[in-house]
Amino acid sequence: MMPYKYFVVIDFEATCDETVKPVPQEIIEFPAILIDVEKRMVVDTFHTYVKPVFHPILSQFCTSLTGIEQPTVDAAATFPQVWESFTTWLAPLEASSYCMLSCGDWDMKTALPRNLDAHGIDGKRFLQHIANVKTIFCDSKPGSKPAGLGAMLKHLKMQFEGRPHSGIDDSNNIAKIVLWLLNNNGNFKSLPAIR
Ligand code: AMP
Ligand code: MG
Ligand code: MG
Repeated sequence: MMPYKYFVVIDFEATCDETVKPVPQEIIEFPAILIDVEKRMVVDTFHTYVKPVFHPILSQFCTSLTGIEQPTVDAAATFPQVWESFTTWLAPLEASSYCMLSCGDWDMKTALPRNLDAHGIDGKRFLQHIANVKTIFCDSKPGSKPAGLGAMLKHLKMQFEGRPHSGIDDSNNIAKIVLWLLNNNGNFKSLPAIR
C-alpha cells in the first residue's frame, strides 16, 4: 500500500558558473508538479521564477545552461515571497498526505535548506517527507544503476520533452518517470514513513 496520496515533483534551477559555485547558490526557478497517486495523473502545477538577491546578475554560463534570461529573474519575486506562494499552494494538502520527489538529493537536501537558511526561514515541517526518484527507479528495475534523468528516460525508451535544465521541463520529465513507476508496479520501499 502506498503511504502517500500525493507526490510533489520538484526540480530547481539555481545560480551557477562554470568553475566556482556562487555562495549562496540561489534558486532561480521553482517548479512543482502535483501527482495524485491513486488517479496516477498530474493534477496541478506550481511554477515561478525567483529573483536572486545575493548575486542578482546571472552568469552567461547560467543563462546558457538553464535558458533563464536576466529580465525573467529581474521581473520575478524574491525567494521569501515565492516560498510564501508555494506553501499557500500546498496548504490545502494535509502535511502527511504528500511526499516531495526529486531526481537526486541536491534539490531537497541541499538547495532548498540552504535557500531557507539564507533568508532565515524555518521550513523544516515541509522537508519531512522527501525521496529520490533515482533510488525508486533502481529499486524498481533490479540491476540498473542510479542514473540521471536522461538515462532513466532512455531506459524506458522515452524522449526528453522540452529543454534539459529548464526546471519546469525537467520536472515534467521526472513526473513522467514517476507516473510510469506508478503504472508499472514500481518499488517505492525507499519512501520515508509518514511522521
Ligand atoms: P539540473 O536540474 O540538472 O538542471 O541542475 C540544477 C542546477 O544545478 C542548475 O540550475 C545549476 O545551478 C546547477 N548545474 C547543473 N549542471 C551544471 C553544470 N554542468 N555546471 C554548473 N552547474 C550546474
Ligand atoms: Mg535537477
Ligand atoms: Mg533542472
